[in-house]
Amino acid sequence: MPGTLDFAYETQPARVVFRPGAAVSATPGEAARLGLRRLLVVCGSRGQDTARMVADALGDVCVGLHAEARMHVPVEIVERAVEVARAAGADGCVAVGGGSAIGLGKGIALRTGLPLIAVPSTYAGSEMTPVWGLTENGAKRTGRDPSVQPRSVVYDPELTLSLPVDLSVTSGVNALAHAVEALYAPDGSPLVSLMAEEGVRAMTGALPGIAVAPDDLDARSRALYAAWLCGACLGSTTMGLHHKLCHVLGGTFGLPHAETHTVVLPYALAYNAPEVPLALTALNRALDTDDAPRALRDLARRLGAPGSLAELGLTEADLEVAAAQVTGQPYPNPRKVTVDGVRDVLRAAYEGRTPEGGVSRSETPTSARRPARS
Ligand code: NAD
Repeated sequence: MPGTLDFAYETQPARVVFRPGAAVSATPGEAARLGLRRLLVVCGSRGQDTARMVADALGDVCVGLHAEARMHVPVEIVERAVEVARAAGADGCVAVGGGSAIGLGKGIALRTGLPLIAVPSTYAGSEMTPVWGLTENGAKRTGRDPSVQPRSVVYDPELTLSLPVDLSVTSGVNALAHAVEALYAPDGSPLVSLMAEEGVRAMTGALPGIAVAPDDLDARSRALYAAWLCGACLGSTTMGLHHKLCHVLGGTFGLPHAETHTVVLPYALAYNAPEVPLALTALNRALDTDDAPRALRDLARRLGAPGSLAELGLTEADLEVAAAQVTGQPYPNPRKVTVDGVRDVLRAAYEGRTPEGGVSRSETPTSARRPARS
């Protein structure tokens, strides 16, 4: 570990249970540990069968199944779910599904203070963070609140067997994005860096196996383990340019969440690369390459992921608007965020070019986590 150590690290107060079959075998025990006796199970309409399994396992402790989670957590959906929870006399919630279902659980927790148990079925990582998101009048607001951090997370790789390959790949790269930005976050730490590097190694090792054999439980387990590590990185640090780009592209232009992360990540990393030599060294080590941005893009393309923002429906005219929004407010990022710079990143991602500049200027450690404000 080169350089003088200088960091703060706060342990996120979540208990994690990880094993095949845990959704059914472990969730009731987790509820009991937390002293919860009246749980509302929430999920999306497509995740009902899995959520029903969990509800059945909970037996009398389940007071209802509410299958109304929707993408981007519309505020009216949260309000309706809060009414359902109150009417049922719920003393907690179990969210079963991807980031959208967990987002609904967090919305309920934010409004009511009810404790949340998360049973994730994608690699998005929301279950490991105190970050909530709510969409109102077409605008998505996000914030941090300890009350929305799930008290217990039940990781069951069997739930992810049904995740289609394309979604597995993009969801996996969504997780990688958390680890990448944690490696150069202003509030990173040696522990976070260890989790991030291991997360990248495990996820990129698992995804090719999943693409070939989606029902390979070992590969699914390694990917979910990686998702846990990457989600923990997200929960512990402040994200930079990459997450800001994706937030704007999803929020303002309606681009799909995981696919957008997948397309943008190599370009955002290439932009920051000159300022983050230590992060790049860690990523190159994890990816067994000397050009991490290009390796990330090659992996995603090889596994069939979309390759450009144009493919996702962005138009040329959107680029300027997006660049203005991404640079509109300051946030920590290792390289100064300029309109010209962001425009170049967006254009390269829009066209799906080979990312350039994925090599750092030097291996000096001092600039590795130093934030620059735009
Ligand atoms: P998602 O939850 O919307 O799921 C995507 C689709 O996959 C849905 O149609 C869902 O029904 C389906 N699906 C989920 N699991 C499945 C499975 N195992 N088998 C088959 N189909 C399955 O998408 P996501 O990518 O998991 O989450 C994205 C959302 O989460 C975004 O709104 C994003 O902002 C949010 N998010 C929040 C945080 C946070 O910390 N607050 C972190 C990451 C993502």
